[in-house]
Amino acid sequence: MAGPRVVIIGAGIVGANLADELTARGWDQITVVDQGPLPLTGGSTSHAPGLVFQTNGSRTMTAFAQYTVEKFAGIDLGGEWCFNQVGGLEVATTPERLAELHRRQGWATSCGIEGTVLDAKECVRLHPLVDESKILGGLYVPTDGLAKASRVVVALAQRARARSAVFRGSTKVTGIEQAGGRVTGVATTEGTIPADIAVSCAGFWGPDIGAMVGMDVPLLPLAHQYAKTDQVPELVGRNTEAAEAGLPILRHQDQDLYFREHVDRLGIGSYAHRPMPVDLRELTESADVSAASMPSMLPFTDEDFAQPWEQCKLLLPCLENSKIESAFNGIFSFTPDGGPLIGESSDVSGFWLAEAVWVTHSAGVARAVAQLLVDGRSDTELRGCDVHRFEEVQLAPEYVSETSQQNFVEIYDILHPLQPKASPRDLRVSPFHVRQKELGAVFLEGGGWERPHWYEANADLVGDLPAEWVPPERDAWASQFHSPIAAAEAWRTRTSVAMYDMTPLKRLEITGPGALPLLQRLTTGKMDKSIGSVTYTLLLDETGGVRSDITVARLRDNHFQVGANGNIDLDYFQRHAAADDGVQVRDITGATCCIGLWGPRARDVVQALSADDFSNENFKYFRAKRVRIAGIPVTAMRLSYVGELGWELYTTADYGLRLWDALWAQGQEHDVIAAGRAAFNSLRMEKGYRSWGTDMTTEHNPYEAGLGFAVSAQKTDFAGYEALQGVSDSTVDRRLACVVVDDGQSVVLGHEPVFLDGKPVGYVTSAAFGHTVAAPIAYAWLPASAMPGTQVEIQYFDRRIAATVAAEPLVDPEMKRIRA
Ligand SMILES: Cc1cc2nc3c(=O)[nH]c(=O)nc-3n(C[C@H](O)[C@H](O)[C@H](O)COP(=O)(O)OP(=O)(O)OC[C@H]3O[C@@H](n4cnc5c(N)ncnc54)[C@H](O)[C@@H]3O)c2cc1C
Repeated sequence: MAGPRVVIIGAGIVGANLADELTARGWDQITVVDQGPLPLTGGSTSHAPGLVFQTNGSRTMTAFAQYTVEKFAGIDLGGEWCFNQVGGLEVATTPERLAELHRRQGWATSCGIEGTVLDAKECVRLHPLVDESKILGGLYVPTDGLAKASRVVVALAQRARARSAVFRGSTKVTGIEQAGGRVTGVATTEGTIPADIAVSCAGFWGPDIGAMVGMDVPLLPLAHQYAKTDQVPELVGRNTEAAEAGLPILRHQDQDLYFREHVDRLGIGSYAHRPMPVDLRELTESADVSAASMPSMLPFTDEDFAQPWEQCKLLLPCLENSKIESAFNGIFSFTPDGGPLIGESSDVSGFWLAEAVWVTHSAGVARAVAQLLVDGRSDTELRGCDVHRFEEVQLAPEYVSETSQQNFVEIYDILHPLQPKASPRDLRVSPFHVRQKELGAVFLEGGGWERPHWYEANADLVGDLPAEWVPPERDAWASQFHSPIAAAEAWRTRTSVAMYDMTPLKRLEITGPGALPLLQRLTTGKMDKSIGSVTYTLLLDETGGVRSDITVARLRDNHFQVGANGNIDLDYFQRHAAADDGVQVRDITGATCCIGLWGPRARDVVQALSADDFSNENFKYFRAKRVRIAGIPVTAMRLSYVGELGWELYTTADYGLRLWDALWAQGQEHDVIAAGRAAFNSLRMEKGYRSWGTDMTTEHNPYEAGLGFAVSAQKTDFAGYEALQGVSDSTVDRRLACVVVDDGQSVVLGHEPVFLDGKPVGYVTSAAFGHTVAAPIAYAWLPASAMPGTQVEIQYFDRRIAATVAAEPLVDPEMKRIRA
């Protein structure tokens, strides 16, 4: 027998794909169970119309879709197609949408998908049912198409069965059996199936399965309308019964609609209705399933389709005389951020999820999960899919319900990358919040935290800016969620001193006799350093991919404070700590707070408030000390993410406001300001500091990411060590490079493709206006051969912007300011 005993719960498109992927990797003890009959189980897959539009703002989701297309296009069932590559057309009826389609075309290009923005006439040539006068143009992706989801399930089940997988229908899972914190079996209505691993691929029933192991699954089942017209004369004779469709699948996002052919009828999907959450307890039993009746299909609510139907007729005048022949409200999964849910339970080893997955992404997700199970890592980075990415407050049913419904409403909206949620807000505020409001903070939201982006109180400083600091005008898109006040905040940080609220950054405390060995094992840096040392280091996966970058401060022998990137790091440390005796990992973020006091006058401010010695000789760069500031116990770390002299000042939440007030009062004679994330992001990029998740992920090794300096040459026993042997700055063939925009004013925002000699070779990760260098700057993945001085072009909407690869960092390469 090869591989552990795996029970996959759910024989929909995800479960079937996973059985296929696992058996393809040689695992041969796979059982797939479903409460419904096989192969039409009654889940979402059973009625999915199967439109596959690959382009997505997330590179991971695009990669999943690309694999789905590749895989489904390569299979058939007895000669019948599983993927009909009719192409995909998204049309624009407003100038804003047309611009958005150019942006999407850029995303497609940056992921290696061919896509073209066409004018209205060309769109109609491809899809003659569309009224040319109603559209301004469209994005055409020839490799998009239709997945025949129910047929794919049968084809994949056949393949998996041939490799010894067992599929059991009409078998409802009623519990997960466990012993010693591990899965031992899956209890069903037909008896218990022994298992080492259970993977819930239960789609929108996911929360019920999660509850069996006490796991909150942040997913909301919502109904979505799908209707089929009667015969459309214009379609008669176009398609054979076998082919079903020949025209491109069509999206009309301005009206929340999509379309596909069903031989001579048209299928219409509509999101143009109120969100309709579904209570799982009210669904029909799964035993009776037919094409027209299944638990995932609710009765059609005509009134919700009345207005969208009028819009359908406007775009496709051939529907003027048509009627709706059949329709239903189908159920599928929504999540707080729209991403899928992948990962293993923190509490019950061997219990996994692969849920909230569209047909579009199903093969890609299944491959990633199979890789996680078999190899311990996925080739595609999974940060935006990891079930542990949510903060605890984001798992609350109220939060999941509100944000998932909002995602439904916004599904086709044009969203600016900085656009925050309108609600719920004020979930988490730092102790400085009251002062920030007094200073007119403009807050964006992240992880439930309110985060000042800039402060209106600094508006007057814009008029004081020296000429070389005055930022250029931005275009309408780059001006959103932005203010020139950020320039003034950056200027003051570089020339006097600013207070940044760093509270929302995840802080972990790792303590106990096992703390040092744990950190030694998991990080690339030397951890056995003196008390008071602070180390910037990396967490790598087994293939050397960067799974996080962290700072580790050794506060006592067995007491470390870790500045981490989020809950995924917490889960990672806790999971590894569980194997060790004598180590505790605690999230101390909410109980503590942090002010980044940065700028050339930072020392003057802090020293005047403290009897402790903040001099350069006695408080060196990358050192931490317990000090008192204005009588408040503070852990001060001499670090700076903005590249200026200064300290991160940590205290407990109760002292936070007092610390802020003391620094603020003392800072007045040094022109102190409060500064926000907009300035921060610009300053950190000028200094070459990477942001994990945006600039680099598990898909990149430290040398590619420009972080080889964080890999200790003395250590040989850390996760990822083996994989890095023979890898160095000189062996990599791609690199995260700094580019400066030549025209000095075009600010891009991230995700744009980058061209070298006219060919797409990479993509932008972070971008900002560099106020100190008076030019827009960006980080981008480029071939390693693109050395400083290389000319590139960035595609920004429908134009190309000339930029030049620059030596980095752009500011203070000698580290004079930060070590002052
Ligand atoms: C109207 C509509 C249109 C859509 N159109 C598209 C589209 O065009 N393109 C696209 O990509 N996606 C589309 N989707 C979404 C897509 O259909 C789903 O996201 C996808 O099918 C989910 O697949 P799944 O395998 O995760 O879930 P499912 O297919 O629902 O499978 C989950 C299975 O788990 C089983 N199960 C649940 N609980 C238990 C239990 N206790 N014991 C045993 N078995 C259990 C269920 O019976 C079910 O068979 C659409 C959805 C709807 C509703």
